[in-house]
Amino acid sequence: MEYPGNIFVVAAPSGAGKSSLVKALMELDSAVQPSVSHTTRPPRGQEKHGREYFFTSAAEFDAMVAADGFVEWAHVHGHRYGTSKKAVEERVAQGADVLLEIDFQGALQIRKTFANAVLIFILPPSWEELRSRLERRGEDAPDVIDLRLANAAEEMAQASQFDFVIINELFERALFDLKAIVHAQRLRYVAQRRARADTFAALNIS
Ligand code: 5GP
Repeated sequence: MEYPGNIFVVAAPSGAGKSSLVKALMELDSAVQPSVSHTTRPPRGQEKHGREYFFTSAAEFDAMVAADGFVEWAHVHGHRYGTSKKAVEERVAQGADVLLEIDFQGALQIRKTFANAVLIFILPPSWEELRSRLERRGEDAPDVIDLRLANAAEEMAQASQFDFVIINELFERALFDLKAIVHAQRLRYVAQRRARADTFAALNIS
């Protein structure tokens, strides 16, 4: 199905810096709206229901799956995560740009429903840097870091299925790359014709 708004899907192994990049993009570009996912994992730190996630019980999650309420959902690091139809469809139908920060399994499911979704994969510059970022973050015990690195190998093997790759070596450079991808989508013929309908009409271009 074709919608007037763009869907950007950003995936990365944990420690690649996905959340910081997405947060920085949103601060600079208020026309990109985040999709708030549902998850069965408990809140961490300062996380608030409805802001980072809708924190749901396993039973509530099951009920949403049964009611066909998700455009995609997946098991990630031992919990379930899903993007509700509500979080995406209404907004792109109204012409908003929506950004989904989800895992690679979800990204590939999104592509099946929204063929024009733009899939962006963020890579770390090296294994050493990925490990040291996970260690510096100080959130995980050493065995959890090993598990995340093992998962990262599996996740990064999926990068070839994405449209764009950003290597997050220097944060500012990676942010520039992300902004460039978003901007380029807005310059596509169909998007320009929609956004600048008056100009197209004045120039007699259909
Ligand atoms: P965290 O629990 O650290 O916030 O997220 C763990 C992983 O789940 C991250 O890779 C995150 O992008 C992914 N994730 C978050 N929301 C969704 C979602 O709605 N669907 C899928 N498939 N993955 C998600």
